[in-house]
Amino acid sequence: MRTQVGIVGAGPAGLLLSHLLRCGGIDCIILEARSREYVEHRVRAGVLEQGTVDLLVGCGVGERLQREGLRHRGIELRFGGRGHRIDMAALTGGRMITVYGQQEVVKDLIAANVAADGEILFDVDDVTVHDFDSSAPRVRFRRGGAFEELECDVIAGTDGFHGVCRTAIPPSALSTFERTYPFAWLGILAAAPPSHDELIYAYHERGFALFSMRSPEITRLYLQVAPDEDLARWDDAKIWRELHTRLETDDGWMLNEGPVMEKGITPMRSFVVEPMQFGRLFLAGDAAHIVPPTGARGLNTAASDVYYLYHALIDHYRKGDDSGLDSYSEKALARVWKAQRFSWWMTMLLHRFPDRVSYDDRLQETEMSYLFSSETAMRLVAENYVGLPF
Ligand SMILES: Cc1cc2nc3c(=O)[nH]c(=O)nc-3n(C[C@H](O)[C@H](O)[C@H](O)COP(=O)(O)OP(=O)(O)OC[C@H]3O[C@@H](n4cnc5c(N)ncnc54)[C@H](O)[C@@H]3O)c2cc1C
Repeated sequence: MRTQVGIVGAGPAGLLLSHLLRCGGIDCIILEARSREYVEHRVRAGVLEQGTVDLLVGCGVGERLQREGLRHRGIELRFGGRGHRIDMAALTGGRMITVYGQQEVVKDLIAANVAADGEILFDVDDVTVHDFDSSAPRVRFRRGGAFEELECDVIAGTDGFHGVCRTAIPPSALSTFERTYPFAWLGILAAAPPSHDELIYAYHERGFALFSMRSPEITRLYLQVAPDEDLARWDDAKIWRELHTRLETDDGWMLNEGPVMEKGITPMRSFVVEPMQFGRLFLAGDAAHIVPPTGARGLNTAASDVYYLYHALIDHYRKGDDSGLDSYSEKALARVWKAQRFSWWMTMLLHRFPDRVSYDDRLQETEMSYLFSSETAMRLVAENYVGLPF
């Protein structure tokens, strides 16, 4: 098999890259370890920055997103039982976020790829990448028991944090920057109509809680828990009790309950690898970096990586200009680090740290009260939350 760009991984990054490349007349094939059914139902992110929405709409996959996505002009930060709204649209000249499940973005992108006869090989095993330090890279994989090989000009490693592309690069060529946090998030998806029309980030002495939603019928909620928390210890009644306590306000706001459809625990980690390229292998999305979900940046940063990589590949194929490919890592990392900084800041602001001394607690309270008293400080949050320009 031969193509121009071999893409490993059909998450949002690989699917968006494939769609953009096909629109730009560049051939590509995606190799995905899981089934279509599995990737279309993997519940993860749900907050899309303005720039991500503009990109999806601009490349023709935003029709359902515009129809069903929930546009939010603000977010609420809740502290000491009181809510403080950050009016993102007013503070950023009308920019906002859209709540639309990652699995819906994935479904739309797969449908667009299939409609354009884009090749996505699902359920492939034993994917390995080879010769990417030469002009003839190859991806080897097993399909239906038989080994096959995909020859290409360039490999896009969009296979997520646990994929094979990053680890195929010689470790001596990479620098890793990492922080793990002393807590995790327990998340549930509940069949309950949202009890508020914007996201609520709550700081409480028992730990952080997040109220969000996926649709007018489905609420998505998170609780800060210990990093090694056992999910079996949390029956639904205990989860709801804790959510009520942490999200409670002094004005009688009530959280709607409903049957829990899904629950899971997500570790909190910041990770970046530099550079994001080695020879003709280019990493994008979670394959190169991850953030704690507090700032809602992960999916959006995957989209901005893809945007830079797509433009670099267009210049390579249409103009024979490799300057975009050569500077891809530098360009992508400049934005990646801003997303890292914002995610780290939101995480520090809103969580209860087990090893903190009382001095740190006072600083956290002061940070919060300063934020609510300063329009400039709120504008900084708003500008980052709706997304910095690509
Ligand atoms: C609970 C949770 C909540 C989150 N909330 C948010 C949020 O609110 N906002 C936000 O922006 N981000 C959020 N994120 C992060 C976001 O989901 C990720 O950043 C996003 O999925 C990255 O997309 P990706 O395409 O780079 O990687 P992935 O989505 O991980 O896709 C990688 C793909 O590669 C495939 N793959 C892996 N290994 C191989 C292999 N060897 N061969 C072939 N295929 C392979 C995988 O099956 C997968 O389909 C959240 C994440 C979690 C876990």
